Amino acid sequence: MTADIIDGKAFAATVRAKVAEHVARLKAEHGITPGLAVILVGEDPASEVYVRNKGKQTVECGMNSYEHKLDPDTSEADLLALIDQLNNDPAVHGILCQLPLPKHLNEDLVINSIAPAKDVDGFHISNVGLLATGQKSMVPCTPLGCLMMLRDKHGSLSGMNAVVVGRSNIVGKPMAQLLLQDSCTVTIAHSRTKDIEALCRQADILVAAVGRPEMITGEWVKPGATIIDVGINRIPAPEKGEGKMKLVGDVDFDSAAAIAGAITPVPGGVGPMTIACLLANTVTACCRAASLPEPEGLTA
Ligand code: NDP
Repeated sequence: MTADIIDGKAFAATVRAKVAEHVARLKAEHGITPGLAVILVGEDPASEVYVRNKGKQTVECGMNSYEHKLDPDTSEADLLALIDQLNNDPAVHGILCQLPLPKHLNEDLVINSIAPAKDVDGFHISNVGLLATGQKSMVPCTPLGCLMMLRDKHGSLSGMNAVVVGRSNIVGKPMAQLLLQDSCTVTIAHSRTKDIEALCRQADILVAAVGRPEMITGEWVKPGATIIDVGINRIPAPEKGEGKMKLVGDVDFDSAAAIAGAITPVPGGVGPMTIACLLANTVTACCRAASLPEPEGLTA
């Protein structure tokens, strides 16, 4: 294996430490404590774990965490009323509504009812438009985490060829916008892309956000490329025992790491950066609300 491993777990810890430092300064110098409100509708076990982790890490960084757990059959009107209340609560600087929502709720309507300045997920259409036009926005957490790791690895990304595999609104598209903003030459690939392997082989930076276990192999990789594997896939692991499962990315780690210059592992790569960037976005939102300077290195 030749590739350097990009340690997302360690990097996320440095991001959280920076957040905590900034929070302590906001409290000491301005008497402000950033607050993050997380709304969970229903009882999806995976979502419950995410929400618990978010709350725990929010508090560990010195911020206030407000959890709102709503019944699975909560009406749209009641959910929108809660969001309106949080939009108008000065103690709340960030609002996140855990997705997916139960089927009877209109996700677009709900997301777009969050005040853009408090939209720490960066999914509101105003933030999408601001990012696309190169203006100050709230940036989606997962792509922001990927960008931070790439900048840390390379310094300037200017002029690099980047291929993003996947065009979702939460990962692929904002990732491509961020790379373009950092002056990469960006191609977005998806399920209809022709000769995707040859395209990926031209990438200095290859971001995989597909949701297909180990789809991208070493043969797709340009020697020395940096690979960011966003995928989180749970697959059977008979080698660990009957019925056991394991997490893998969208990249076949062993074959890709033999060719790449650097690669994020799964788990321990992009995953831990996502919550760290949520905390970073909350501090950024708080500073903007108070017209204070934003923390350095925590935004795009
Ligand atoms: P989506 O399902 O929304 O999007 C997947 C994208 O992959 C689509 O654009 C689709 O193309 C494309 N795609 C599917 N099959 C192929 C193929 N055979 N060849 C090329 N492209 C293909 O997924 P998300 O963006 O939400 O998530 C992607 C992965 O990232 C998942 O594994 C998810 O679990 C993980 N994830 C990880 C996070 C983290 O914190 N680390 C956060 C968010 C997601 P098309 O549009 O043409 O259908």
